[in-house]
Amino acid sequence: MLQDGPNVDTVDALVVGAGLAGLAAADALAARGFTVQVVEGAPSVGGLARSICVGGEEIEAYYHHVFPQDRALRNLIGRLGLSEKLEWRRASTAVLTNGRLYPFDSVLDLLRFRPLSLPARVRLGFGSALALVRGRGRRLERMRVGDAGPRWFGRGGYTVLWQPLLDGKFGPFAHDVSLAWLVGRMKQRANARKSGTGDRLGYLRGGLGALAVKYEEEISAHGVQVSCGTPVDSLVRDADRWHVRFGGREVLARTVVACLSGESLGKLTSLPDAYRRTVEAIPYRAVTCAMLELDRPLGSYYWVNLIQPTDLACLAVIEHTNFIPADRYGGRHIVYLTHYVEVGGRAWNAQADEIVDAAEVVLRAINPAFERGWIQATHVSRDRWAQPVPLAGGPMPGLSVDTGLPGLFHASLAHIYPDDRGVSLALELGGRVGKTAAEWLATTGREAMSGGV
Ligand SMILES: Cc1cc2nc3c(=O)[nH]c(=O)nc-3n(C[C@H](O)[C@H](O)[C@H](O)COP(=O)(O)OP(=O)(O)OC[C@H]3O[C@@H](n4cnc5c(N)ncnc54)[C@H](O)[C@@H]3O)c2cc1C
Repeated sequence: MLQDGPNVDTVDALVVGAGLAGLAAADALAARGFTVQVVEGAPSVGGLARSICVGGEEIEAYYHHVFPQDRALRNLIGRLGLSEKLEWRRASTAVLTNGRLYPFDSVLDLLRFRPLSLPARVRLGFGSALALVRGRGRRLERMRVGDAGPRWFGRGGYTVLWQPLLDGKFGPFAHDVSLAWLVGRMKQRANARKSGTGDRLGYLRGGLGALAVKYEEEISAHGVQVSCGTPVDSLVRDADRWHVRFGGREVLARTVVACLSGESLGKLTSLPDAYRRTVEAIPYRAVTCAMLELDRPLGSYYWVNLIQPTDLACLAVIEHTNFIPADRYGGRHIVYLTHYVEVGGRAWNAQADEIVDAAEVVLRAINPAFERGWIQATHVSRDRWAQPVPLAGGPMPGLSVDTGLPGLFHASLAHIYPDDRGVSLALELGGRVGKTAAEWLATTGREAMSGGV
């Protein structure tokens, strides 16, 4: 282990991971006067909200939109001077089942949804309205959606609509997901509708990846050091400091804020047994997402949920350019094919051609004239830690940001339960864990440390 000396960097706080949560944690610490270094393993900041470039315009590797109630995100957009780039546009939704598309944006659409009998549609409508009123609570957290769902939404409605979507997202865990999570997600959508923007969703011109880059510039201007492209290899604690190793370097830090999955954190350091067992009990789904650049439009909906099996379990087809005009992307029409998968399985490893082969049946159902020749380019993105599974009676409620090791704090997608993941909640969580770490630094006292970043 390196000793203090002129060649050893020392900081008050080191943040692992420069997704939006990590950047917000660094911001909160720097705002309280602490020296901060952020270390990101990927080549650039942004994490799951990172962007790629299409037709000269930045666009998220995974489809992202802004909800009207995303307070922390909208505040950050304002603070970074990007408010006029936030636009609100109609985002239409449909369901594809038995080769047919059904609009699915309103109560009227539900009442017209032929794959369900009329009594089942009414039952599903009442069940959903009641679920929004009966809301949250510990009782719901312990209820398995596979058991309670048919009672709450009616057997027909649950089996035809919810079950295939939950299967697509959570695979073998679908039955055991907590009802609290599902109701939380329904509320997120309902609150968006009530917010006054109607069926419109927000989009930040240039993508949320560009927001992350701008945020990085802003905190760097306030003294935060951000290093990308080299993952942290280990975190070792001595009497009063953390030795953080990455890319053959070592940085000494009084506190570490780790903004990544619990299992990833467990590989960097020896966590206390109780905390390790808790985070290891949270399964995660990975994501494989193909972005197709087409030379013409595919269909007319923004978001098509698939209640239609495909060979590689594609869950949704999202035509971004039915939300944002294609001329932004040099006339290219952008279609995402999204799969939540097991790591190491066929869909996880699938190459672009194989993904398109499997999805062709749904692309043709959306537009019978679709031909492979329309595809001008494809980009496949994969992430191992994309979606924690909110198991009924599982360990996610009340998950602490304090790992139990002195000065080691943790924030992950799992800490947001029962809300669904989201950039705004990641910013809030990052700000909260940064503040907690700052308070810890203030109460344990700031030690005079030699050197500096
Ligand atoms: C398909 C998809 C669609 C989504 N759509 C939306 C949407 O429409 N609206 C919305 O608000 N949210 C959406 N989200 C969710 C949103 O992207 C996330 O909630 C948010 O970006 C999470 O930020 P985070 O910082 O908590 O985690 P992450 O973005 O996962 O950041 C973790 C970071 O840690 C880094 N890291 C991991 N290990 C190490 C290591 N050892 N050393 C250094 N760095 C490391 C990773 O590279 C990564 O950058 C979507 C997510 C997905 C997957």
